[in-house]
Amino acid sequence: MSSLPVLVLNSGSSSIKFSVYEAGGGQRCRLFEGAVDGIGTDLGKFWIRDASGKKLVDETPPLPSRSVAFKLVADALNSGEFPAPAAIGHRTVCGGPGIQENQRITPGIIDEIESYTDLAPLHTPIAVYIMREALRLFPGIPNFAVLDTYFHRTIPEVATRMPIPTEYVEMGVRRYGYHGISYESIVYQLEPELPEKLIVAHLGNGASISAIRKGRCIDTSMGLTPTGGIISGSRTGDIDPGVLLFILKQIARSTPDATEAAEKLETVVSKRSGLAGVSELSNDMRDLREAIKDGNAKARLAVDKFCWTIARWIGSYVAELNGLDMLVFTGGIGENDTASRSEICAGLGALGIVLDPERNNVRGAATISAESSAVTVRVIPPLEDLMIVNHVVRLMSA
Ligand code: AMP
Repeated sequence: MSSLPVLVLNSGSSSIKFSVYEAGGGQRCRLFEGAVDGIGTDLGKFWIRDASGKKLVDETPPLPSRSVAFKLVADALNSGEFPAPAAIGHRTVCGGPGIQENQRITPGIIDEIESYTDLAPLHTPIAVYIMREALRLFPGIPNFAVLDTYFHRTIPEVATRMPIPTEYVEMGVRRYGYHGISYESIVYQLEPELPEKLIVAHLGNGASISAIRKGRCIDTSMGLTPTGGIISGSRTGDIDPGVLLFILKQIARSTPDATEAAEKLETVVSKRSGLAGVSELSNDMRDLREAIKDGNAKARLAVDKFCWTIARWIGSYVAELNGLDMLVFTGGIGENDTASRSEICAGLGALGIVLDPERNNVRGAATISAESSAVTVRVIPPLEDLMIVNHVVRLMSA
């Protein structure tokens, strides 16, 4: 295949991140990246920088809506100043039970993804909006959905099946797992010396862990939605279902409409819980570390709960893998918060995991285990955009 510019779009609640890669044959070269940030504010940020880091665009436009924000991106990329994209890859959190393969986006595919908004209510409405806009503003250019659930398609049924009546399973309720593009990129970076028994902890504002045997995912902590699994910035993670029923009954006293009550419950479990809920301060690890320095006991408890949960989960995955060769930390916390890494690993000495405090005192890629450690512990930043480009190129040539 001749060389083609591939645009990667990754949309969040207040930002749209993008990058353009030149892709051809086995070559991948990032030409530039950018973002519009601060959607919903009068003073947004719009920047594009080239591969050397030089800013090509640096503006502070008003961004009253997502529509205005995405039009800025499309106008810039269609202006002739940058190589116009020949294909577009969309990071897609979840496609529901009918869409588990990465594939070309059509209006019908967008409708299908949208019909399962309940599986990822924070992400899917934004993703489908951007898909529709991309089809409209880049006419004739093929768009592809690259799914965060795709890497988890190898998880056996014993782990994906929820212990609930089959009628709900038939509606699509199962463990899907998320952060799959990040996990795939860690496996990609470890090849060709991929360890057989691998655990990856993707610790960001959303956090999850996966157990990977010979490059294939065998279990992951997030479930039907990204709210499941380990505690994260503002989400509960797995929780006794009785707690949900208790909170729902409290909400129902003042909110008799069932849908409205369910939405309020969703706000509690997805936006008001996790690190933010326990600390009553912030969902951001940097804020919590600052507060801990000032002796804030609630911040200390929130971070202890986070590290304790992760250590427990790693222990259970070692049992599933029947051993462990390598533990990898990634994501904003995994890559930068040295204290979280050491607090998590402090509880794992019985598994032969020993960190070297000096090696651990880094941000970014490094091996941080001690020579005496039975398990190699590494920090590896993910390469999600590159993985999306690889899938787009594969699908274009298929
Ligand atoms: P992500 O969702 O991957 O962007 O990660 C966001 C999380 O990473 C937030 O909780 C941040 O506080 C945390 N984070 C980012 N940089 C640092 C840092 N230098 N030290 C500690 N935590 C950080």
